[in-house]
Amino acid sequence: MVEKPVSVGIDIGGGSTKIGLVEPDGNIIVNEILKLTEIDAPEDLLDAYINKIKSWKEQYRDFQIEAIGVGVPGHVINDHRATDICNLPFLNRFPLADYLEKNLQLPVWIENDATYAGVGEYRYGSGQQSERFLLATLGTGIGLTFIEHGRIHATGNGTLGDIGHMIIDRNLTFQCRKGCWGCIESVASGVAISRDAKQLAQKYPESYLGKVFERENRDPTVRHIIEGSFEGDPVCIGKLNETADWLGLWACNVVQIFAPHRFAFGGGWSASGQGFIDKLYQRAKSVGIEEYYNRVTFVQATKGNLAGILGAASFAFDHARNTRV
Ligand SMILES: [Zn+2]
Repeated sequence: MVEKPVSVGIDIGGGSTKIGLVEPDGNIIVNEILKLTEIDAPEDLLDAYINKIKSWKEQYRDFQIEAIGVGVPGHVINDHRATDICNLPFLNRFPLADYLEKNLQLPVWIENDATYAGVGEYRYGSGQQSERFLLATLGTGIGLTFIEHGRIHATGNGTLGDIGHMIIDRNLTFQCRKGCWGCIESVASGVAISRDAKQLAQKYPESYLGKVFERENRDPTVRHIIEGSFEGDPVCIGKLNETADWLGLWACNVVQIFAPHRFAFGGGWSASGQGFIDKLYQRAKSVGIEEYYNRVTFVQATKGNLAGILGAASFAFDHARNTRV
């Protein structure tokens, strides 16, 4: 019997890791979320992945694992062998690829997590056949990936710099988690929205957010603002529009740098739907150079939180096969 080729995609997050076995056509054989919150040593984290992959080797005997792709929430250093300035600081400068290769005898390729999400969307989701594709990830932070004719563009450290920290608020009202003032993350990231949602809940106790605060005894989040807006709550609708306004200004800058043909949005806010994304487009168009907007469409990302493992797995295939030739 001929074993079918698969690769492993690993998407390292703050408190959990997504990991999956993926065929070359993007079919996911299995995927799991590993909750690894107590860990603070790199070997412990990587051993959890190694044990999972070894158990899959036993369980899925019809398949031959060829390579591993790892998406890291940080910079990519040492020729795609390690990470730095990572959201998990204990991984900084640890020889991540060496450790996995030594223990599994499989080639490893590392990219930034947003980059892999972009690759996943480009190859299997909202970016297919787009010559100039941008993916924005609107989550805890704000990330951006640019793929031109199938090639990833990075300006440094395996990323497009810190483009989620472009300064757009001239009043410099808030400081973001990385320390800059008035950046798009300071007003429109998950962290910023949670901060504002809590204040709105306290200021308007009769609003949807106020009731969430009272009923569930916890701080409301992006999800609650989206739910409230669907129910017609004016405070939630107001916050959604304000956020669309900020993101629209940021998107305008981004569009006028990269001139994309398609601009996809994923992460928490994308659950607001195409109506929200249309607001970003209108806002960007209203302040920008019109000709950019005649050739770009703004769309929702379609692969959700699986984009990262899809991109990681498929890119790992490419690198394993190219290096073998
Ligand atoms: Zn910032």
